[in-house]
Amino acid sequence: MYGAKGMGQIIIKGIQTNNLKNIDVTIQKNALNLIIGPSGSGKSSLAYGTIGKIGLQEYLSMFFDEMNDPSYRVSEYQNMSATVPIKQTNYNSNVKSTIGTYFCFSSKIIALYASLLGMDEHFFVLNREENVCPVCHGLGTVRQMDLSKILDYKKTIAENPFKCWQRRNDFFTKILIKFCEEKKIDINTKIEDLSAADLNMLLNGESKGKFKINYTHGKFKAVRTTKYFGLFTQTSMIQKDFNLPDSYYSDLKCKACNGLKYSEKHLEFKLNGLSIGEFMNTSFSDLTPFFDKIRKKKLNAETERLINPICVFLNKAIELNLGYLSFTRTIPSLSGGELQRLRLIQVLCTQLTDLILIFDEPLAGLSGEEKEAVFKNITRLSKKHTLIVVDHSRKFISSADNIIALGEKSGELGGYLINAQKYIDSQVFPTGIATVTPKDFINVKLKQEIYGYAGADVKIAKKSLNLVTGYSGVGKSTLLREYFPRFFDEYLYINQKPVAGNVNSNVGTLLDISSRIFNLFAKKFEKPKSFFSNSSGNEGCCPACSGSGYNIYANEKFTCKECDGTGFNQALKKYKIADKNLFDIWGMTVSDAMTFFDTLDKKIMSHISVANQLSLGHLRIGQATASLSGGENVRIKLLKLADSQADVIGVDEPFKGLNITEIWQILNFLIEKRDSGKTIVVVDHTENVEKFFDYHIGLEIKNKMITGKVL
Ligand SMILES: [Zn+2]
Ligand SMILES: [Zn+2]
Repeated sequence: MYGAKGMGQIIIKGIQTNNLKNIDVTIQKNALNLIIGPSGSGKSSLAYGTIGKIGLQEYLSMFFDEMNDPSYRVSEYQNMSATVPIKQTNYNSNVKSTIGTYFCFSSKIIALYASLLGMDEHFFVLNREENVCPVCHGLGTVRQMDLSKILDYKKTIAENPFKCWQRRNDFFTKILIKFCEEKKIDINTKIEDLSAADLNMLLNGESKGKFKINYTHGKFKAVRTTKYFGLFTQTSMIQKDFNLPDSYYSDLKCKACNGLKYSEKHLEFKLNGLSIGEFMNTSFSDLTPFFDKIRKKKLNAETERLINPICVFLNKAIELNLGYLSFTRTIPSLSGGELQRLRLIQVLCTQLTDLILIFDEPLAGLSGEEKEAVFKNITRLSKKHTLIVVDHSRKFISSADNIIALGEKSGELGGYLINAQKYIDSQVFPTGIATVTPKDFINVKLKQEIYGYAGADVKIAKKSLNLVTGYSGVGKSTLLREYFPRFFDEYLYINQKPVAGNVNSNVGTLLDISSRIFNLFAKKFEKPKSFFSNSSGNEGCCPACSGSGYNIYANEKFTCKECDGTGFNQALKKYKIADKNLFDIWGMTVSDAMTFFDTLDKKIMSHISVANQLSLGHLRIGQATASLSGGENVRIKLLKLADSQADVIGVDEPFKGLNITEIWQILNFLIEKRDSGKTIVVVDHTENVEKFFDYHIGLEIKNKMITGKVL
């Protein structure tokens, strides 16, 4: 039937998944296939929604009966194999899931310890109460008061550095001063310069005698006679009940087991100087000597079987610059890129061949040399497997065996095959854009142990556009996500994780326009707003799904047929503004809505035009928040900047997955915000963007501190 050439190709015809317009696609087997195009043009629908799903569906249907109908729509396909989708997203939120458990190494390590120490495996498993640390129950962390959230290290004692003692500030400031007089502690010392003994006294101490404090409480004068009790004594000096709000707590390393999770008796059983808890906590790079020592002895077949896969994994991890991770590191704390690279190692280690591997943006978030290593390993995979990569970097474009370009635009205007070369040629940055020279700087200096870092000491430029780069593991995201909020009072952090909100929220609610649209209808038809609202409990709700737009059968979500997933009551179909009812509006893309609301409502227009400016024109108003990509999440959150009080904004990888036209739109938006006085710090490694930033900081680790140098 097939010629030799035909066997080398996967052919899929009549693809109509999501917005794809009945296209035919040819994939080269055992080659690098690249998919490019603007956001929302259908790249994910093709790669993951169609090719990825066909492979999974066909394969799984051999094991399970009564599989759901496939969500992809194609008329025919030839030469498919099993697919492995490897995404850049990390939505895992299970804190018990670690690199060790997720990649099935924990059981191998336990077996290795048991076998070499001649003990029973049960002795080392973590799900037995008698094996684990009694304080943290084997979690390694404990919810405890977080000093860096409680204390303002830049303030002196006389200025009352306790953030949790700001109400009735007058009382606390005075009693702090009295206590320090008694203990001979200098009240004009900043917390960061205080000796450990004095700080300990402040937190855990108690005064000998009582102090009589005159203070003002609102308009009133008050007197209180009490001893001083340090915060950690958990004894209140002013309110009846001591109750520090949860916002002052963090999950910090358990002091009882030092984060090792195991009970004390386990520390005595060591292999090459490491107890099993210490082994799990040791970085991959530092485990090399451990295995070198083991290999010096003659090993039996059983031990070989256990250590070989671990060593292969460790060596690859080190090669791909993940040597700083340890088996105990939790999956939710990994970036999408770190998890994707770990999964890449999994694929590199498998003995299976002829799989279809699908990657999105595998080089995103990596510095120059790291990109090289990952790129080399991915392209090497094309000898054994078929690669489908969604990416925009020049590296992939110049070495792809086959490029599929989708366009022209997004949403309904996308989903067509377009000329790849013409599209690539159209992607260039404008020239002649001036940056500003920073005048003032902020030194972010903070000591606090987080994820193995001792603290941060990084200078950023005020009211400027800062770019932060550096190797994986140098603490880029940790700096923005953990240290900045502890340092700045008014700070906003924007990353790829889904926008917090209820499960039923959609693009309309995120853009803050749903309620305004209901108002428009309410006004026109002189009815209450709830008559048109689809949020549950309102009159406008679809009775079949209570407004959620879906129903749940056997733990799976199915679009509600009654309301077509809009959540609206059928009765609302006859109410129209400018010939459109709410069902029509919920189906509109943001760009369509621009035309529609142009003359109808100024406020709605202003909200959706910012969304359009941030390359979100392809999203549908009624689209569920949960379906948004990481890049779309970042851009939706950027919209919120408009109403944010924060003067410092940290943005993690805003350009990921975007083409140059789109990156330029976002840069423009950030430049506008800088010009309005905001300090913006961006972590990103997209090629050629650095020239648009005012200040470029390269991160380094010095004595476990995250430090920065000007590039
Ligand atoms: Zn513990
Ligand atoms: Zn419904």
